[in-house]
Amino acid sequence: MLTVNARSTASAGAPFEATTIERRDLGPHDVLIDIAYAGICHSDIHTARGEWGETLFPLTPGHEIAGTVSAVGPEVTKFAVGDRAGVGCMVDSCRECEHCRAGEEQYCLQGNIGTYNAIGKDGRPTEGGYAEKIVVDENYTLRIPEGISLDVAAPLLCAGITLYSPLRHWNAGPGTQVAIVGLGGLGHVGVKLATAMGAEVTVLSQSLKKQEDGLRLGAEHYAATSDPDTFASLAGSFDLIISTISATVDMGAYLGLLKLDGALVNVGAPEEPLSVPAFALIGGRRSLAGSMIGGIAETQEMLDFCAEHGVGAEVEVISGDQIDEAYERVVASDVRYRFVIDTSTLAG
Ligand code: NAP
Ligand code: ZN
Ligand code: ZN
Repeated sequence: MLTVNARSTASAGAPFEATTIERRDLGPHDVLIDIAYAGICHSDIHTARGEWGETLFPLTPGHEIAGTVSAVGPEVTKFAVGDRAGVGCMVDSCRECEHCRAGEEQYCLQGNIGTYNAIGKDGRPTEGGYAEKIVVDENYTLRIPEGISLDVAAPLLCAGITLYSPLRHWNAGPGTQVAIVGLGGLGHVGVKLATAMGAEVTVLSQSLKKQEDGLRLGAEHYAATSDPDTFASLAGSFDLIISTISATVDMGAYLGLLKLDGALVNVGAPEEPLSVPAFALIGGRRSLAGSMIGGIAETQEMLDFCAEHGVGAEVEVISGDQIDEAYERVVASDVRYRFVIDTSTLAG
């Protein structure tokens, strides 16, 4: 076992505290990663506050992990000491079901093993990236290409793949009209990715406060959902809408913005059910869908795409003592656009 500095919370909503956690000894296929940065995803907050049901406390969240390999197990072939490496939302899966075999490990029929708040194959709770080091199987470790610095790469491991996968699945590209709802951590990367894929992008945000940023990130249009005219003037405009809203909202208004056969893909994960008026779906043969992160191979493809197209997150780097404050700002939609923890600050 390796003891490392980390930050954890003891119960739902309790402040983060400096602590130490144990990482397992390296198995044959494990890599040890010295974590440089860990992004703060809104899912960390839902989990830490107990909004998704029972959380395993004490909790060390973090599934947007970027760092450098510092040791490898004897049978590791994919990584060497010194390689830049990342870890996203899952650290294992059954590897045998049809989804795992198809490279869709996130939809493993046994349930993928989350990077934190899950039970690992060793029977111990998994603990995430708000820590100095992590041990992960090489098959669930990503390669971070040269050319993306580790701080802006970290959020790609969750926010990046969560937007990349549906944009690809629903064929965003030249000639398609894509709307991204919510300009937060996921949304801002979505704007960059959809733009890099060649789609014409519109941001739908609660207000026009972040309009300048949205246009700088690549969007051609920006509209405020607090303005009642927005839903009338944009009715029937989009092939694809991706909602990243972290709160419960009525999907009906957004469905009305789709073209015939358009799809509204929800990636937000609020605790309460979303409401969907039937007529908003049936009039226009519209689809309402969901999407969860992406598989390991697709996550690597996304990182390579980001390196090629110069896509990274816009980050605000914080210390371990600023996690509680960062959570408050994320919940208040006051993040521009991802908080990333510098893990050299974690020692108590
Ligand atoms: P975030 O940074 O807080 O962004 C969410 C954005 O949603 C906010 O910035 C805000 O954008 C908008 N929003 C918040 N409350 C709203 C409301 N009441 N009405 C309308 N818009 C509202 O969060 P995130 O890290 O991007 O995560 C977003 C959601 O996706 C969370 O629920 C998270 O758990 C989930 N998630 C899902 C997956 C997946 O695999 N499906 C992966 C990661 C995260 P504006 O200020 O621009 O309006
Ligand atoms: Zn996440
Ligand atoms: Zn499986």
